[in-house]
Amino acid sequence: MKHMFQRIFGRKDPPNVEDNMEIEGPTNVTHNVHMTYNKETRSFEGMPEAWKKYIGNAISDDEITSNPEAAIAAAKFWKYSIRRKETDLKLIPTPQVIKEESEAIEHVFESGKDSGEVLLSVSTIKEEIEPEEEEESLVTDSTDCISNSGDQVDRAEVKIAVSPVQVRKRTTGKMDDAEIMESFKKLCSPDDPETVYIRDKELGAGASGKVFIAREKSSGKKVAVKDIDLDKQPKKELILTEIRVMKEIQHENLVNFLDVYLLNNHLWVVMELLDGGPLTDVVTETIMKEAQIAAVCHHTLQGINYLHKNGVIHRDIKSDNILLGKDGSVKVTDFGFCANIAGDEKRHTMVGTPYWMAPEVVNRKQYGKKVDIWSLGIMAIEMIEGEPPYLNETPLRALYLIASNGKPNISSWDNLSPEFQDFLNKCLEVDMEKRSSAEELLSHSFLNKACSTTTLKPLIEAAQKILDKRISHAH
Ligand code: ATP
Ligand code: MG
Repeated sequence: MKHMFQRIFGRKDPPNVEDNMEIEGPTNVTHNVHMTYNKETRSFEGMPEAWKKYIGNAISDDEITSNPEAAIAAAKFWKYSIRRKETDLKLIPTPQVIKEESEAIEHVFESGKDSGEVLLSVSTIKEEIEPEEEEESLVTDSTDCISNSGDQVDRAEVKIAVSPVQVRKRTTGKMDDAEIMESFKKLCSPDDPETVYIRDKELGAGASGKVFIAREKSSGKKVAVKDIDLDKQPKKELILTEIRVMKEIQHENLVNFLDVYLLNNHLWVVMELLDGGPLTDVVTETIMKEAQIAAVCHHTLQGINYLHKNGVIHRDIKSDNILLGKDGSVKVTDFGFCANIAGDEKRHTMVGTPYWMAPEVVNRKQYGKKVDIWSLGIMAIEMIEGEPPYLNETPLRALYLIASNGKPNISSWDNLSPEFQDFLNKCLEVDMEKRSSAEELLSHSFLNKACSTTTLKPLIEAAQKILDKRISHAH
């Protein structure tokens, strides 16, 4: 709820994605789409008419002429995004997943096929790793054995000899619901969570469920609980995988997983409670000093570095996913959860939001951990300016601008210290080979400017006051 008000009154929301839904036009393209730009005729060749129309609405002729590759990249990515639909999931990517995902985007544009299922590799990958070939005991009808046998054998004897026969169960590559529930039960603490915790007020709702505060009865300690209604989750296997990963990954700059329970087909995912709200509240409502920005970057980088060391790419680093404690602690969240698991229509139309996306993602190149570093750079801009670049543009136009501009313009650049400028240059380096890694940035001189995160306390309090006021006025 708070999130919603923050969206309404705090940061300006990006233009409504649904306004752009006329771009659904090319969905039924059945011929091959090989687009090129003819500089002489100043027109795209091979581009479906409907695409021209929606590109034309977002990107001007001059912009297309000056950078046709960026226009095509933006259009292709946009088209890919709106077609991922229910397979729109954040995942723990492996190099294989990334490779397949890149190929999947190509596939959409090269074949023009309208099959959502081929688009995302994650289900295929998961199918490969999940069920092993199982063997099952079965008593077979002994008649066949007799008729197949040349020898005259006593029926009763044969029955004993061939029974039970081990037959191979055909593998469908998918766990059925009963198997999934069994796995959840094994993963979950056996207790009834309502005997362990007292449920308190709701913090907000996301795509996969509601988050509420709870108090542990024995210690009085407060925690955050994500309540996921499994009956509403189309991809339960993924939640299973994500929880397994979250259990393994623990770091002081991550919102850590504490426990998981199962109650009436609802998962209770118990996490550390961060009571200072998201960093978004602070960046939209207050002005941060460089030393405070350096402190947030330092702590965020420590979290990112730990994820990267464990083979996890976050892929959604932005101020909304940095949660603060009232004491000023800084923690990265949503690193394990499928951000878009449930059936929220709006989310299905777009993979996250493009504003924090690295150019290599928009350009559909092979990408890796460095995408999180680019997003950190964009988040640093949020801390300077209160919002990411292009937030007022439509998502398609923002994609074009990311692909064509590379490092965004920062209006107050000249007021920044040389160390901060260098840090931003290293994060917002378009060439991902040259872009610094999390490890490298951890020894960057800008971080030496960091003050204690306890100095964030007054900013958090001020932001909460302003936002609470807005919420109560809205009621
Ligand atoms: P998404 O589905 O994209 O993640 P979301 O982040 O808004 O969207 P949730 O992650 O379900 O949705 O979180 C809902 C609300 O609860 C958000 O306002 C979030 O900041 C808050 N929240 C989530 N986890 C915690 C936590 N551990 N401590 C405090 N607040 C939290
Ligand atoms: Mg979230």
